[in-house]
Amino acid sequence: MSQSWKGGSTRAWRRTRALVLLRDDYLCQLQLDGCTTVATHAHHTAGRSVTGDDPAYLVAACEHCNLKLGDPTKLADPPNQAVTRWL
Ligand SMILES: [Zn+2]
Repeated sequence: MSQSWKGGSTRAWRRTRALVLLRDDYLCQLQLDGCTTVATHAHHTAGRSVTGDDPAYLVAACEHCNLKLGDPTKLADPPNQAVTRWL
């Protein structure tokens, strides 16, 4: 696992994301303002640092909503430096 996230993606993550997208019919489940409805991302509903990549805590999301929502664990404390992208 040491540097598996170096490139921002792993084979396991891509598989998990594909499963989530398939489960949710490639429809964005977040539906925020400006939603494009076509899900291409998997959003961590409770924060990746909390739940890891458990599909039970992932929902399909369009890029717009996923990036708008970000990591819920960081909402109370907005990062002031570039956020590491996981997708
Ligand atoms: Zn959306």
